[in-house]
Parts: sequence; C-alpha cells; structure tokens
Amino acid sequence: MALLQISEPGGKPAAPKHRLAVGIDLGTTNSLVAASCGQKVEILPDDEGNYLMPSIVSYGTNSAPVVGHAALPAAVEDPANTIISVKRLLGRSLGEVSDDEQFGQYQFASTGVDSAPVLQTAAGDKNPVQVSADILSALAQRAERALKGKLEGVVITVPAYFNDAQRQQTKDAAQLAGLQVLRLLNEPTAAAVAYGLDSKDEGNVIVFDLGGGTFDVSLLSLQKGIFEVLATGGNTSLGGDDFDRALMALVRSKLGATEELNHKQTAQLKRLVIQAKHELSNSSSSELIFNDQTVRLTVEDFSAAVQDLVRQTITACRRVLRDAELDKDQIDNIVMVGGATRMPVIRQAVAEFFGKEPLTSIDPDKVVAIGAGIQADVLIGNKSADSFLLLDVNPLSLGIETMGELVEKIIPRNTTIPVARAQEFTTFKDGQTVMALHVVQGERELVKDCRSLARFELRGIPPMVAGAAKIRVTFQVDADGLLSVLAEELSTGTRAEIQVKPSYGLGSGEIEEMLQASQAHAQEDMQVRALREAQIEAQQLIDAIRAAETQDGDLLEEEERAQLDAAVAKLERAIADANKNDISEQTEALNKLSGEFAARRMDLHIAKALSGENIDSVESTND
Ligand code: ADP
Ligand code: MG
Repeated sequence: MALLQISEPGGKPAAPKHRLAVGIDLGTTNSLVAASCGQKVEILPDDEGNYLMPSIVSYGTNSAPVVGHAALPAAVEDPANTIISVKRLLGRSLGEVSDDEQFGQYQFASTGVDSAPVLQTAAGDKNPVQVSADILSALAQRAERALKGKLEGVVITVPAYFNDAQRQQTKDAAQLAGLQVLRLLNEPTAAAVAYGLDSKDEGNVIVFDLGGGTFDVSLLSLQKGIFEVLATGGNTSLGGDDFDRALMALVRSKLGATEELNHKQTAQLKRLVIQAKHELSNSSSSELIFNDQTVRLTVEDFSAAVQDLVRQTITACRRVLRDAELDKDQIDNIVMVGGATRMPVIRQAVAEFFGKEPLTSIDPDKVVAIGAGIQADVLIGNKSADSFLLLDVNPLSLGIETMGELVEKIIPRNTTIPVARAQEFTTFKDGQTVMALHVVQGERELVKDCRSLARFELRGIPPMVAGAAKIRVTFQVDADGLLSVLAEELSTGTRAEIQVKPSYGLGSGEIEEMLQASQAHAQEDMQVRALREAQIEAQQLIDAIRAAETQDGDLLEEEERAQLDAAVAKLERAIADANKNDISEQTEALNKLSGEFAARRMDLHIAKALSGENIDSVESTND
C-alpha cells in the first residue's frame, strides 16, 4: 500500500459545487461511513447517534432485510437467517467454507464445491455479494439522509490481503447496491491517510490493524508528505473474534462441566463474553451471569488466555520488519487501527516490542473510514488543487508457468500498484504455433505450490525453430488490485488477453500460509528448481542430437552413432532418476561426445552455404 502523493500538474481551483462522496469501511464486524462535512471528514452516525453499524443482515420471510443494530437481536434469536461476518465468505468457494465451524449455523445450498457459497435464508438464497450489498445499501442510505442528497461516488476499504476475487466481489456488491466505486483502498493505507492529516512526520510508520476477523500489519515510509510502503504482512484469520473464542473457552471452563449449549445459548453466552472482553479493556475485572451462575474474570485471566494470539501479532510485526530490512528501533510511529487494539494486552505487547507507545489519538474504530472519506472527497474532485493519488501494493507475487512446472515471477510481492511489467518468452518446440499460458500467484518456485489464477492460450504463432519466436507477456495490475495479462507475438502482433477474475478466492489464512511455506521451503525449492532446470537442459540436448541424427546421420560412423546413442540413453536414465549431479555429469559427457558431430555438421552447412545453397545458414552460423 504505497501511498504516493502525486500533485496534479496545473490543477484547477476547487470546483464550486461540493459533490457528495463517502468513504466506507466495510468491516467484518462493524462498518462505518464517513464524509467531508465542511473542513473535516467525519463519521456519519445513524439516527440514534451510533457511528458503528454491525455488519449483520437478518433475512425474514417477507420483509426487507434488517441490517445493523436492528439485526442484533436476530443474531441471537434466529442465527440461521442472520448473516454475520459475511466478509469472511467473500471471494471464497463453498468447498472452502462448508466445513468451517464458524459458519456452522448456516445452511448452504448445494451448488458444488467450486462455486460461491449460497446461504439459504427465510428470504431465499443469498450469496455473499448480495449480503454485502445489503450492508452497503444501509450505509449509503444513512449517508444520503445525513448529507441530504444523492451519493455520486464511494471509496470502499478492503484488507491489504484481499486477493483479486475478494476485491472483485466487493466491487460487485457496491454495484449491486447501486453505488459508483471511485476506488478500493487498502485499510492500512486509509489509516495512514487519516493520520497524515494532522501529523506531517517523517520516518517509518507501522500500521497495526487488529479488527474483528483480520489482522494487517504494514510498514510505511513517510517523507515530505509522501508515503511509500516498504512491506505488508498479517493474518487473514486472526482478529477480535479469536479473542472472543479464547475468552469463551475460559468462561466455559469456569462454568464447570455443563451440557452442550444450543445455538441460541451459545449466541447469548457469546454476547456476554464480548461485553466482558470490552469491559476488561477499561477495568481490571468483569463479571458475567449466565444461567444463574456468576463468572468473575480478571485482566490477568484474560491475558493468560490470549497470550498465544498476542504473540502471533508480534511475530507478524517481526516478519514485516525483516521483509523491509529494518530494525524495530528504526520505526518512528505505530498507528493502531481496529476495535481490538483497544485491548491493553495488545497495546502493551506492541509498545514493549517496538520500545515506544503506539499512536491512538484517532479512535481506532474510525480511523480507516476517515481515511477513506478523505480519499473519496479528493477522487470526486472536491479538492483538485492539492489532489493526490494513492497507490497500493500487490500482496503476493504474480507470475507465469514455464517449462518444468516452474514459476517465473513477473510482478514480485509488495510491488506498488498500478503496475505493468513485461517479460519475453519463447517457444520450446520447433514449429510451435500455440503457447499455453498459466498465470499463478504465490512465493514458491513450483507451480503446484502456488495458486492457479487463470489459463489461456496464444494461438497463431508463426512456425519457427524453438527459441526463435518472441512472445511478450505483460502483467498489469490496476489500482484496485485486479490483474490482466496480455501475451503478444512480436513479429506478427498476434495477441491474447485475459482479465483475471477467479471464481473464488483464497481461504482465510492461505496467503499467510503461502508466505510461511515459501520461507520454510526456500532451500528445498531451490534444489527442486535446479533439478528441473538440469532436466530441461538435458532433454533439449537429447532432442537436438536426435534431430541432427535424422538430418545429418550420414556424417556419423556406425560406431560413433552407437556411442552417441548409448550416451543419450544414459542421460535419459539420469533424467528419469532425477539425480541433479548425475544429470549434469551425463549432459556434460554427451556434450563432449557430440562436439565432433556438431563441428562436422557446421562444416557441411558452411560448405553448402558458400556454394550458394542456403545463404541463411551462413548468417545464422555467424551470429
Ligand atoms: P472489523 O474491521 O473486522 O469490522 P473492528 O475494527 O470494528 O473490526 O473491530 C471489531 C473488534 O474489536 C471486535 O472483535 C470487538 O469485540 C473489538 N473491540 C471493540 N471495542 C473493544 C474494546 N473496548 N475492547 C476490546 N475489544 C474491542
Ligand atoms: Mg477494520
């Protein structure tokens, strides 16, 4: 999430008419909407003065969906028809979520493991895009009532780790709600914008965002009002919810061995537990009463129960520092974002790790929405004089499959977007007219360890010898993090293009896992890569010798040919045995053995060419 501040050359003075645009923090747990009200960007509250809107939608039999606070009772009374944490379903497949305990109260339609999960509710089938659209509609209505006018555009924030599918579905939800998306903005980026308003510090900033369901940590470098992202990290399945679960387990154990709770009782107890968790952020103990039993909780109890979760957040901070090759004492500010950073146990751990107090002057609930509101105001054109563009980074490397099922990375992870990068590839076989392109995402060296995003083909390559065709593959990631890939054969201009919109996204935590795996397997991957490359090189040599034998076999004595064939057979065995050293040795041996044959062929072709038979081979021989 590099934040680049780019002044618009020759910017015009502010437009006379103030256009209505809002920033929306579409959270897993809570959502907010913010807009510029005169000089300042403020959170727009509902009629009761609540600025948070629970991201909850309840579907009854024949009424409009109930969203936000009004849906809270239904979350307890009617959990099957009341959708919570829908953000965790966005961009995922039924197969990924159907066995997940956290969605246990829902009935999913049997649509097939690879399709989007469809929730069966009293109001009919609802997919995650529709549920998200209902939340966005409710926020837009709130804004239009408060601002007394029609919205012309919205900026919606998404976690830094959201992949293409999740970003696309967020946009789809906005479209379904009838909203014009000016930009999707990464949440930490928005937080930095919010703080950039008051403090014009120089230095390195950590944005530590612990929400209800996700944890993002980002390292921004700030210079003269220009932010640049040095690294991002986090965990898509770590948040306040996990602290609820840990405290729930503690409460259940304090309640003693009781019989299984039904969904309704569980929901009731959960609400009490969350209340207690919030209380423990302000006082040293809390009490809850459940089924006439009183449970007393202390901050010490709580800290012990969540110790492991706290440690995980610090580990992610350490990794981000390592990615950026910075020391923790080079961090000047830590921005706290997300309701869960109110927990003293988190603030203390962060302060202790970095050796300084984190910034908490802006309400951690509001900071993302405020940043989005500022950005919306700029993008809609209310502030053209000092406009700036915000640029983000892509969270995982994007690349293409090459021979041997290896990955060639084209856009490395943490590259600032929008970005376009091109690389040239060539054909592997003589006369090849079709090239299959496989777009993958991830940090590992082998295709099977990365995530497949899309496959497509470039057809109509003019037949040439292997290695002669020039095919330029361009990866382009737009400002919303969506990828398109273009393949172009350079001599004819034949093109094929694909917009990558996978039907479902990564499972929660999967990005984190992929990053962890790439570090854990780096050594092993390098060995596998070296082996694959040796195998490919060896096979190419064998193919070349076979072709030469067919063409110019009469240049060889019978015995020479037998020796050559024996060496080929030996190398083929080495390839099959997958022994890197053996393959290299045999390749070397075959190269030596075939050297004389190659020299004879060259002499023959030069002789032919000089006699006017084939002028082209003279040129290519002299190359
Ligand atoms: P999201 O971005 O996922 O919607 P939020 O930033 O709104 O999440 O944070 C929601 C989380 O913050 C919930 O887990 C909630 O319990 C927690 N939270 C809110 N206030 C407090 C508090 N005072 N103490 C501890 N946790 C809190
Ligand atoms: Mg949040």
